[in-house]
Amino acid sequence: VPACPQCAKPLDELLSVCPYCKANLDLLVEYVGQLQTGLTRAEQLTRQGELGQAVWAYLAVLEVDPDNAVARRQVGQVATAVRQFDRTAPGRRWLGRLRGEHPEDRRSFRWRGPLLLALGAGLLALAFFLGLFAGSYFADAGSATPPARPERPGPPTLAE
Ligand SMILES: [Zn+2]
Repeated sequence: VPACPQCAKPLDELLSVCPYCKANLDLLVEYVGQLQTGLTRAEQLTRQGELGQAVWAYLAVLEVDPDNAVARRQVGQVATAVRQFDRTAPGRRWLGRLRGEHPEDRRSFRWRGPLLLALGAGLLALAFFLGLFAGSYFADAGSATPPARPERPGPPTLAE
């Protein structure tokens, strides 16, 4: 039962003027009418099997009246069904495994980061020691004979 927005008294029937405080209730009448039209349309769509459009119609009702019990129940049922489908659909489970959402995969995924880090550190250490080795090698070679530079072939000339 809607209440008068002016004096908050419950209105048994919708009139364009409040019987208690004589406030103009045209807006309230229009609002309730829109709501009723929206609900009727949504119910029709549900009966016709147009569930997608019915959900949109119920959402439109909730936009006008967020506490509308019928619309909330209907949209809530759809949301629950979608969540159920999300959990149980085989395709979704397969996709989850693919994304590493499977418990075992998740464990291996958690180790992937540190493993890569360790591998990177190992490569860095290897490069460092290789550099030291190469440095000392060339230092020794430099003291005896300068390292032989391979002669790069020059550009072809017309004489040849
Ligand atoms: Zn009133």
